[in-house]
Amino acid sequence: MAAAAVEPRVVVVGAGPAGSRCVEALVKAGIRPLVIDESARSGGQIYRRQPDNFTRSAEQLYGSEAAKATRLHKSFDGLQGRFDYWPESLIWNLAGNRIFVVRGAQQCSVEFSSLVICSGATDRLLPVPGWNYSGCYSLGGAQIALKAQACAIGAEVVFMGTGPLLYLVAAQYAKAGARVAGVLDTSPFYRRVAALPDLLANPRALYHGLGLTASLYLKGVPVYSGVEPLAIEGDAAAGVSAVRFRDGRGREKQLHCDAVAMGYHLRPETQLADLARCQFDFDASTRQWLPRIDRDGRSTVADIYLAGDGARIRGADAAEASGELAALALLADRGQAVDSQRVARLQQQLGQLERFARGLAKAFPWPHQLAAQLADATVLCRCEVVTVGEMRSTIALTGASEANRAKAFSRVGMGRCQGRYCANAGAEVIAAATDGDICSAGRLRAQAPVKPLPLALVEVAPEDWLEVSAEGVDPVLKPAEAGL
Ligand SMILES: Cc1cc2nc3c(=O)[nH]c(=O)nc-3n(C[C@H](O)[C@H](O)[C@H](O)COP(=O)(O)OP(=O)(O)OC[C@H]3O[C@@H](n4cnc5c(N)ncnc54)[C@H](O)[C@@H]3O)c2cc1C
Repeated sequence: MAAAAVEPRVVVVGAGPAGSRCVEALVKAGIRPLVIDESARSGGQIYRRQPDNFTRSAEQLYGSEAAKATRLHKSFDGLQGRFDYWPESLIWNLAGNRIFVVRGAQQCSVEFSSLVICSGATDRLLPVPGWNYSGCYSLGGAQIALKAQACAIGAEVVFMGTGPLLYLVAAQYAKAGARVAGVLDTSPFYRRVAALPDLLANPRALYHGLGLTASLYLKGVPVYSGVEPLAIEGDAAAGVSAVRFRDGRGREKQLHCDAVAMGYHLRPETQLADLARCQFDFDASTRQWLPRIDRDGRSTVADIYLAGDGARIRGADAAEASGELAALALLADRGQAVDSQRVARLQQQLGQLERFARGLAKAFPWPHQLAAQLADATVLCRCEVVTVGEMRSTIALTGASEANRAKAFSRVGMGRCQGRYCANAGAEVIAAATDGDICSAGRLRAQAPVKPLPLALVEVAPEDWLEVSAEGVDPVLKPAEAGL
C-alpha cells in the first residue's frame, strides 16, 4: 500500500519522569508529540507501575515518593488523546532523522523533526568471580522483580556494590519481608562524610538516604562499608551459595545466600545519542563518557535534545526538571514563545540537583581499582563468555589499547548487551593493561540494535510484516533498508 506523505514529528523517547514532563510541556504549547517507550506503562524506572491486576497502594510501591509518582502518572494519563503513545515499542536504530521501531512482530520507521531522548539509565556493573552463576542479578533487576511482580530474587539475598540504589533496594526488600543477608558497600564510610557539603544541596534526599540505612540497622541487617568483593561462591548447577569479601579492616568474611543483587550506581543509556552522532566528553568524576549538552538539554546535533538519566545521572527530580527544560528549549528553537522565568527556575533547580549528584559520585565512587586487579579467570563479558585473562592476552598479542579495537579482537561488548554491562569494566581492564589512562581506552561506539530484538521479528518473513497505520508513520521497511 502506498503511504501518504507525512509531516515529520516531534518524537519523545521514554515515558519516565523526564519524558512525561517533556510531553506535558509540548502538549501545553500545542504540539502533538509521538511518545515511544518499550515498557507496557508509563512511569519509567522509579515510578514503574504494577500490572493492572495488582492492587498495592502507591504508598506501598513508592514509599516516601508516592505523592510524586501519583502526580506524574495522573499528569501523563490526563493528557491521553493529546499525544500519540506507543507503549511496548522499542527504538532499536537511528539513522539521520529517522528512528526504527519494533512493536511485537511489527516494524516501522518514523521520520522526526525533533527528537527528545529521555532513555534513562541502567545499572553499572563490575565483574567479580562467580557473577555469572544463576541467582546473581543487577540491583535494578532485583528492584523490578519486587516493584512489577511483587517477587524477591531469592529467599536470602546479599546486596553488593555501591550507590544510593544499593541501600534503597535492600531496604525495600527488608520492608517487603525478604531476608537480607547483608549489604556490602565498596565505598568507605569516610567518603560519605567528605561528600556531606555537596549532599546537603538536597537535604530531603539526604535525610531519606540516612533513614534507609537506619531502617536496615534496625532490622538487624549487617551493613559493611569499604569492602573488597572477593567472589560469589556457588556452582553452575545450583547457582549462588555465598559471597566472600574483605571487610573495611581487611578481614575475610563470607555471607551465605541464594541470590545476589549487585550494582555500582548507574550509567546513562546513551546509545541513541551516539547513533545520532552527538559529541561525548569524558567525565572524570564518574569515569564515564557523557553526551555533551547545554544547560537546557540541547545536544551537539541540531534537533536532538537529551534529558533525564539518559544524559546525566542526577535523579528523578532532576529528570522531571530536565525533561521540561528540553521541551522548552525545543519550543524556543522553533521560534515559539517560552516563559523565561520558568526556564530560569528550572535551570536553578537543576543546578542544585547537579551539586547533589556530584556529592553522590564522591560518596559512592566507581571502584575502578577493583576492575584493574580482577583475577584472569573472572568472566568479563557474560554474553560472549570472555574472561579478563582472555582480554588481557588479546591486548598483549594485538596491541589493541582502545575499546573498539579490543572488542574486534576479543568480542568483549559484541554480544546481546552490546557492551551496556561490560564496557565500563572492559575499559578499566584495557587502561590497567596499557598506559593506565582510562581516557585513551576510549568508549565503545553504539551499534544497532541498541537492545536485543525479539525473535518474533526474525521469524516473520519481510513480506508478512504488517504496516503500522498511525498518523505520521511510514509503512514498514524491508530489512536491508532498516539496517538489519
Ligand atoms: C533499574 C533502575 C531502578 C531505579 N529505581 C530508582 C528508585 O527506586 N528510586 C530512585 O530515586 N531512583 C531510581 N532509579 C534512578 C531513576 O531511574 C531515575 O532517577 C529516574 O527514573 C530517571 O528518569 P528518566 O525519565 O530519566 O529515566 P527512566 O525513568 O529510566 O525512563 C526511561 C524510559 O525510557 C524507555 N526507553 C529507554 N530506551 C528506550 C528505547 N530504545 N526505546 C523505547 N523506550 C526506551 C524506558 O523503557 C523507560 O521507561 C533507578 C534506576 C534504574 C536503572
